[in-house]
Amino acid sequence: MKKHNFNAGPSVLPRPVIEKTADAVLDFNGGGLSILEISHRSKDFQAVIDEAVALFKELLEIPDGYSVLFLGGGASLQFCMVPYNLLETRAAYLNTGTWANKAQKEAKAFGEVVEVASSKEANYTFVPKDYTIPQDADYFHLTTNNTIFGTEIRTDIDCPVTLVADMSSDILSRPVDVSKYGLIYGGAQKNLAPAGVTFVIVKDEILGKVSRHIPTMLDYRTHIKDGSMFNTPPVLPIYTAMETLRWLKSIGGMKQMEQLNIAKAQLLYDEIDRNRLFVGTAKVEDRSRMNICFVMKPEYAELEADFLKLTTERGMVGLKGHRSVGGFRASTYNALPIESVQALVEAMRDFEKAH
Ligand SMILES: *Cc1c(COP(=O)(O)O)cnc(C)c1O
Repeated sequence: MKKHNFNAGPSVLPRPVIEKTADAVLDFNGGGLSILEISHRSKDFQAVIDEAVALFKELLEIPDGYSVLFLGGGASLQFCMVPYNLLETRAAYLNTGTWANKAQKEAKAFGEVVEVASSKEANYTFVPKDYTIPQDADYFHLTTNNTIFGTEIRTDIDCPVTLVADMSSDILSRPVDVSKYGLIYGGAQKNLAPAGVTFVIVKDEILGKVSRHIPTMLDYRTHIKDGSMFNTPPVLPIYTAMETLRWLKSIGGMKQMEQLNIAKAQLLYDEIDRNRLFVGTAKVEDRSRMNICFVMKPEYAELEADFLKLTTERGMVGLKGHRSVGGFRASTYNALPIESVQALVEAMRDFEKAH
């Protein structure tokens, strides 16, 4: 039986994407070799990475003057690459969760870090809105979706300085006005591909402005110049990313994907708000469409393990909340079918009836 996969990352991928990846592992393009055993410099793989870049640009309507890169090291390496390449004197960060905090910590090795606002004291249950971005900052860094705490920023803000965003867990879930950003990055293992590849969308003109020496592999310009092929890129994850991008295009692109994500999130949040046993943890106006966090109401706290057991019996996986929030987290990424959300809602209703 296929499971309902609510894992937070690595996470669910579209079934046809997994099947096409499996085919390419067995015999890539009918050439008698596995994609695992071909050169990244072969014509056939060049076509894959070119198509992945082209589809990324098409789906997100990325303007001219931006490069799309596929790198190694995960989003966590970007926490260091961003300041390495962009921080000359001071950078501003919005502290909205564990990942935002890690990004900001890393930047401190490169210059002054201004934390413009933080919701840490409230265990990151909301996104601070009342803050001022220093005009003299080299950039302002946001985490658009807080994977662990289930809050999300879906407005592409007007920013007086270069805007940098970690979009690891909400990339390609909605249309994005890329022109508002200088750099967007993320690990691909939430919404795009298996672990092992990192996407970076960077506006070329923001680079080359810091005075420090940047090691070759950590310099974005190296990877722009060599089309993400300075060294051997993660070939298989890039192949899967290309298939996911094809799938996104086939279902109608970003507007359609956003509508499906709204429908899924709405279904689950409506049930959380209706059901006597459960309560959401994130402030309503900041609720994420990608990671939906909820707990048992205090008077039903002892039922938590029983509810998890019921969902497990019904083929649902990955619903246990992150230890810093507790309760439950349903990750409802692009590839999660609405049927999986319906199954969860049904389990919540049945559980309410039984208690
Ligand atoms: C998962 C995640 C990361 C960490 O990604 P890695 O690729 O494992 O380094 C960073 N930021 C956000 C928002 C995430 O969800």
